[in-house]
Formats: sequence, C-alpha cells, structure tokens
Amino acid sequence: MWAGARREPGTGHGLYIDPVRAYAAAESSVATRYDRPMPVDPESLSIVHYPAEVLRTRARSVDHVTDEIRLVAARMFVLMAEAEGVGLAAPQVGLSWRMFVAHVPEDQQEGRSVDSSPASATRAPQVYINPVLSEPEGIVEPYDEGCLSLPGISGEVLRPPRITITATGLDGQRFTVRGEGLLARCWQHEMDHLDGVLILDRMSQLSRLKARRAIKDLERAAR
Ligand SMILES: [Zn+2]
Repeated sequence: MWAGARREPGTGHGLYIDPVRAYAAAESSVATRYDRPMPVDPESLSIVHYPAEVLRTRARSVDHVTDEIRLVAARMFVLMAEAEGVGLAAPQVGLSWRMFVAHVPEDQQEGRSVDSSPASATRAPQVYINPVLSEPEGIVEPYDEGCLSLPGISGEVLRPPRITITATGLDGQRFTVRGEGLLARCWQHEMDHLDGVLILDRMSQLSRLKARRAIKDLERAAR
C-alpha cells in the first residue's frame, strides 16, 4: 500500500515505473512464476502491475517458514522501500502466497506510535505470514489509498479504524497485534491482496471515475 493522501504532491509518484516496460517484464514472468514450484530466485522479483492475473488470484497458505521465505521477505522489504510504500503483498511480486510485509514508521505529527495501544506504527519492517484479521472496531473511515500495483491511481476507501491481526513471523511463531489508524488500514489493504481484491473494487464511485483514464492506460499497456 502507498499512503497517497499523506505525501507531498508529486513525491508519491517517485514509485512510478513505466507500465509498458514493467508489464513486459511481469508478463514474461507472472504466468510461469506465480504458481511455480519453489525455489524462487528472490533477486528476480519485481512489483507487478494491474491487470496481472496474479493480483486477482486468491493466494494459498504458506506451509513452512523456510530460508526461501526469509529471502523473499527480505527482497520484498527492499522493493517496498524503493517504491516508498508502507505495505507490499506477495502477489504483488508475482507470488501467490499468503504473506505480506509492512512498515508504517512512527510519525509524531500524524500521531503514529509503536507504543500506543493499539499500535499505529511498526518499529521495523514486519512480515505477516498466513495472516488472519479479527475484531474490526469503530465507524468506517475514508482515506485516500494508493497501491504499488496501480501506479498513478489513488482513491478513497472506507475501512474500520481498529483491527487485530494474527500471523506467523519469520521465526515461525504465531503472534497477535491490535492496530489502528494507518497501520490497521495497511493490514486490511494487504490482506485484500491475498484474496485477489484491489482498491479498484473498494474505492468510491467518484474516485473510480477520476481514475478511469489511468486504469485504461494500465490495461492498454498490458495488451
Ligand atoms: Zn496494494
């Protein structure tokens, strides 16, 4: 996820990648990659863009936390940081695995803290394997979300402000955290990716209208 609304104008587009080039790369790899048997070469992974099929596929559970999973997670951290994102799901790098990474840094101005209860930030990049969300709470709030697989597109999405996540970490242990604000939103956005759901399916009618041209451009680039 890319936190569209909270950036200075223009800076968010530092993540822009030529869609034609990116899709050519994605096309040659996705069809064979997203369901291919392990092992995966982590260095070969890159962010795939809509309308790649893997983004519309329900991802399957990860059986064991292996060295391969750790290497893929490390690569996803790099790709997320390069794209200035706060979250990145495995299907976005062409892998149909139930796993995502997130890093929502603390921000005093925005009131994001690791130590608040619920937490609204992460101390370091986190990995969430086979995640499950529970106990959503609060009146749904609008927020302008972007997505690293939808360059040039952002839209208002309604989500509950607080939620709990249970997932497996890289140490193989299950953990549970309650989150709020951007962190809770990020988890929900990334969780959607594991079910083949994109912000296009959730954004307001107005946002979708505004994004219509950018969506068409991505679809055209993929042909
Ligand atoms: Zn996304």
